[in-house]
Amino acid sequence: MSSVRQPVRRRTRQLLRLLVLVGALAAVAVLVLATLGIYQVYERHVVRSAEREAIGTANALLETERAILVNPAAGPESPVRLALAPVAIPRLAARLRPFLHSFGVVKIKVYSADDTIIFSTDLALIGRVDRGNRGLARALAGSIDSHLVTTGEMVDLAGEQRFDVDVVETYLPIHAPNGSIIGAFEVYTDITPYRADIRSGVLTSALLLGGILLVVFGASFVVVRRAGTRLKQAQAALEALAATDPLTGLLNRRRILERLDEELSRRARRPDSGPTPAPLSILLLDLDHFKQCNDTHGHLAGDEVLRETAARIARSIRRYDVVGRFGGEEFLVVLPGTGLSEALAVAGRVLQAVRESPVDAAAASIPITVSAGVAEVEPAEDRPETLLARADNGLYAAKRQGRDRAAGWTAEQAGTENSAAPR
Ligand code: GH3
Ligand code: MG
Ligand code: MG
Repeated sequence: MSSVRQPVRRRTRQLLRLLVLVGALAAVAVLVLATLGIYQVYERHVVRSAEREAIGTANALLETERAILVNPAAGPESPVRLALAPVAIPRLAARLRPFLHSFGVVKIKVYSADDTIIFSTDLALIGRVDRGNRGLARALAGSIDSHLVTTGEMVDLAGEQRFDVDVVETYLPIHAPNGSIIGAFEVYTDITPYRADIRSGVLTSALLLGGILLVVFGASFVVVRRAGTRLKQAQAALEALAATDPLTGLLNRRRILERLDEELSRRARRPDSGPTPAPLSILLLDLDHFKQCNDTHGHLAGDEVLRETAARIARSIRRYDVVGRFGGEEFLVVLPGTGLSEALAVAGRVLQAVRESPVDAAAASIPITVSAGVAEVEPAEDRPETLLARADNGLYAAKRQGRDRAAGWTAEQAGTENSAAPR
């Protein structure tokens, strides 16, 4: 049975370890993915807010400065277009700086429809043509385009040198009254002040999620482990039940024979003292005239005698000896590390303990004795059959010699006597 029991326990432990590993990996994956997702949501929210601010600022700018930015058509046929007289540039720049600064705008450019910068808060850029700018191209095609950019260093509108600045770059079209696109704005909105907000928002969410995962995972681990322990307890109880003789509480026949097998194979595997393995002996005990006891006092009294005999045998053997009910009124004791003469001494103690006092059962005081057959394992012997046969021969001899005694039986005797003789 132990050969089945051990792998089951090991498998339970392995499963629990696997659960912890898979759970931890899943928790980390969920945490990382969720944190990334939350970060993106926050970032998108900030970019959209900045975009809205940029649109508002650009529209306000266009409204207040329309007179100098938009050239009225030279004639009724010529189209409306953006143009800025060079003399108006410094004054416009001076006017815009405090206005834009209060809106968190760090830079603004005005493009004409042919990609030329007609105004920039950075005056050096005016007159340049910005080809291949995708955001600009999209704005000139009618869309609003915003994205987050981290710049290494820049000069803001107050003329201050700034490092590691997060800005949202927004391109938006400028429409003529008839709806046609006559240019585009490029607005840089500083969102660096929100960076700490994003980080603390993401961190708080991640910590919260981590805490929830830890609680959920911890709780499920505790539940699974408790279930595992209950299962192990139930399994142990079942095993004990399957290995126990219900009348006497000793090991049953199957289990005591398994224990004998285990002792024999352990001895074969690991010789304790050099080339000679440790000795091993067995006692086969049988109640004397038990049929008569049943006949005289009844079967229930017989059961009580069996129970009391079992208890007396169990009390008189050593801690590392094992006893089981071998059959009806027969008991088998396995004595590891014990040679024949020592085993005979143990048998003497058992016999003494059984005989010592009568058993009180069915209003009677029933005197009881047992006989014992004693056999020691031969050096090369690794199967129980011949050993049990020798113990049985010993038991037969003890009965024949008058009962309430122990008789040893050696391999040499087995060669000369008929081991199958009936008792
Ligand atoms: P001997 O000294 O030669 O061993 O004689 P014995 O009467 O003990 O031997 P025998 O084999 O003739 O009888 C054994 C009896 O044990 C017969 C059977 O009814 C009885 N027995 C076996 N199991 C139980 C049990 O569980 N309860 C009771 N009460 N009796 C049992
Ligand atoms: Mg008997
Ligand atoms: Mg018998």
